[in-house]
Amino acid sequence: MTSPRIPQPSQDRSAATAETVAITTGRRAAYLVVLVVLPVVFLALAVPAAWGWGIGPRDVVIAVVMYLVSIFGIAIGYHRLFTHRAFKCRRPLRIALMFAGGMAVEGPVSLWAAEHRRHHKYADRDGDPHSPWKYGTGGLALLRGMAHAHAGWFYTARRRSNLRHWVPDLMADPDVRRFDAAYPAVVALSFALPTAVGGLWSMSWAGAWTAFLWGGLVRYAVVHHVTWSVNSIAHTFGDRPFRTRDRSSNVRWVAFLTLGEGWHNWHHVEPTCARHGVLKGQLDPSARLIRWFERARWAYDVHWPDPVRLAARRASHAADQRTADSHAAEGRTADRRATDQGAVDRRDERP
Ligand SMILES: [Zn+2]
Ligand SMILES: [Zn+2]
Repeated sequence: MTSPRIPQPSQDRSAATAETVAITTGRRAAYLVVLVVLPVVFLALAVPAAWGWGIGPRDVVIAVVMYLVSIFGIAIGYHRLFTHRAFKCRRPLRIALMFAGGMAVEGPVSLWAAEHRRHHKYADRDGDPHSPWKYGTGGLALLRGMAHAHAGWFYTARRRSNLRHWVPDLMADPDVRRFDAAYPAVVALSFALPTAVGGLWSMSWAGAWTAFLWGGLVRYAVVHHVTWSVNSIAHTFGDRPFRTRDRSSNVRWVAFLTLGEGWHNWHHVEPTCARHGVLKGQLDPSARLIRWFERARWAYDVHWPDPVRLAARRASHAADQRTADSHAAEGRTADRRATDQGAVDRRDERP
């Protein structure tokens, strides 16, 4: 007589639902070269290049336009649209935003979104792929953590977010699948585009070369460090007007360079909100552009911040802070009383 078989979860099923998967040493080495070493080399190259030959207005225009396309592509496309679904948009705009994000050379959209969704779930706790607080809060530990959050994690992490777990919606999207499969060509385009424009504009090989240097290599290195500063700086320094479970914060200069992404505190309160800079004086060009898309009817179902909810979250945080401040003041008073009493006691002990 045989005992009835107990159904076991299959290997495939557990592999599909695991949050992370191992990555090969070869892939880690590729991340090290493309994401960590080369940007530093190109930024170092830019200094003698600018010193020796200068940089002409043509290359400045090409580099700035490529910078804006890359950063808007990451902020509006990869981040707010594909990762957080903060709005919906027509297919041509959706594809254009995906390509614009691809110009930043930060990986295929599905992998970028998967790592970022994991970041939101575990922000600044175990499981966060890039928390600056990973090694502790002391000076050196924090410095090491910031290097890890900025770029170190690309190489040191032995596991990557499992696409099937984090982004099944994107994997079911034929446009995303095609874009991810063509990603090496997208990277080539990110460098070919400024080179071709520089060559045609100047009608010279020299013009093509300097545009490749400034609009291609230097621009991609700057874009990388600017976007990564959200992970390192805007989880370490800055103000936190809203209560969150993590250390997400607002840093004005990061917000300026990332076209709104540096207003990171509210973003962790409500990740699906299309606007990150929600307080007075917090300029958010990415949100402004989404608004223009909405007016042109290219974007719809946009999640704008609800003023009532915003005011309530702010008020509750302010109340928490007042309570914490009064507790701290009571603590200080109690300490002072204890100190005074100690002094009296010691006076009494005098002979
Ligand atoms: Zn964050
Ligand atoms: Zn996010």
